[in-house]
Amino acid sequence: MKAHVVAVLDEQRAAFLAGDGDAGSEAVVAAATARLARDAARNLTGVLNGTGVLLHTNLGRAPLADAALDAVREVSAGYVNLEFDLTSGERGSRYDRLAGPLRAATGAQASLVVNNCAAAMLLIFDTFARGREAIVARNALIEIGGGFRLPDVLARSGATLVEVGATNKVYAADFARALSPDTGIILRAHPSNYRISGFVADVAPADLVALGRRAGVPVVEDLGTGALFDLRPYGLPHERTVNEAVADGMDLVAFSGDKLLGGPQAGIIVGSTAAVARLRANPLLRALRVDKATLAALGVTLRLHADAATREQIPLYKMLAMPVEALRDRARALQRQFPALEVIDTQAYAGGGTLPLDPIASAGVAFLPAGGATAALARLRAATPPLVARIDNARVVIDLRTIDVADDVRVAGALAALFAAN
Ligand SMILES: *Cc1c(COP(=O)(O)O)cnc(C)c1O
Repeated sequence: MKAHVVAVLDEQRAAFLAGDGDAGSEAVVAAATARLARDAARNLTGVLNGTGVLLHTNLGRAPLADAALDAVREVSAGYVNLEFDLTSGERGSRYDRLAGPLRAATGAQASLVVNNCAAAMLLIFDTFARGREAIVARNALIEIGGGFRLPDVLARSGATLVEVGATNKVYAADFARALSPDTGIILRAHPSNYRISGFVADVAPADLVALGRRAGVPVVEDLGTGALFDLRPYGLPHERTVNEAVADGMDLVAFSGDKLLGGPQAGIIVGSTAAVARLRANPLLRALRVDKATLAALGVTLRLHADAATREQIPLYKMLAMPVEALRDRARALQRQFPALEVIDTQAYAGGGTLPLDPIASAGVAFLPAGGATAALARLRAATPPLVARIDNARVVIDLRTIDVADDVRVAGALAALFAAN
C-alpha cells in the first residue's frame, strides 16, 4: 500500500517539476487505488463474493468445508499413502482411495477421479469413441462456459459425431436407426445451463440404456452438476442426481466435484467395473491425474454429504440453507452503520452453469453511488479483501447469501472506505 502511494507521489512530483502543474490529491488517490487494484488482480487472492452467485466459476466455484481444508493440510504438509498400500507395503493406486466413499454415495460399482468434468469426458471419448462413432441427440450438443463445447471435444478425441433427432424432439427410434458396427458410445448430456420448453420429446435414460445393452454399446451420461440428493428441501427444483443416473443403468456417469457437490475442482466418473477398467487402462489418464490435495478434500466432502446433519458444514449447503430473514437481519445491521444503504430482497443463483432459471430467494443491501455504479464497483474491488458486487438499475447491490456472516465486518470495511472517499 505505502509503496504504491510513494510511487505515485514520486511520479506526481516529477511531473510537477517538469512543469505539468499540480494534479491534486484526488488524482494521487485515484492513481494509487488503481495501482493497488492492478496488484491484487495479478495474484490469487481471497475475495468477498457479493454477487449472489453461489458457484461463481470466475471466483473459484465452491468454497471448501473446514474439515476438507484440514484434510488438505494434513496430506499436503507431509507424506501420505497416496499410491502405497499400508497392508501389503506395496504400490497401490490413488484411484482406489475414494472407491468406497464413491460407491456409498452413488451406488456405482467403480469410480475414477480426474481433474474436472471436461477431462472426464475427454478420457471417456478417447477410450470408447476414438476412430469410431458417438451417437448424440441434437438437444444435447451443449456448450458449457469456458470453451467446453461437447461436439468440439468429441471431434478433438477423434470421434465422429452422429447427430440424431431434431433440436426439440428425439425418440428411441432415432438412436436405434443410427446404430452401426462403428458405434463406440451412446452419449447423453445433461442440459445443465439451458432449457427447451414447449413442443419437446426426449428419450428416457433407462430406454437409452436398454438400447445400448441390446447393441453392446456403452451408454454414457455427462451429468455435470453432480447433485447427490434431492435439492427440493433447499427450495430448488429437483435436479437429476448421480444416483438416479447410476440406477438407470448408465455404464458411465461423469460430474464435477466443485458444482453441486460443493467440493474441490475434480471430474468424477462412476459406473460399471468393466467400463471404468477400460478408462484406467488409457495412457491419457496419466495427463489428467488428480493430486493428493484434491482426493483428500473430495473424500471429506463426500463424508459430510452422507448425513443431512453434517451436509451443512459444506459451505455451499450452509449458504443454501440460510433463511432469508437471517440475511435481512444482517442487511439491517449494515444499514444501521451506513444509512445510505437500502435493505432489499434479491435473487441469488446456484451458478456454475447449474439451474440457471431457478432463482433462490435472498437479501442484501443496495445504494445509488454519487459517482456512478461502475466507479463504486471498482472501489469495492480495490478494498482489502476485494469485494465483488453487482449493478442493478444503476444501483450497487451486495447480496449477502454468498457472504459468510463472519465476513460482514469486512463488507462494512469496504463500504466505509467507499463512503469516506465520496
Ligand atoms: C459444468 C459441466 C461440464 C464441465 O465441468 P468442469 O468440471 O467445469 O470441467 C461438463 N458437462 C456438463 C453437463 C456440465 O454441466
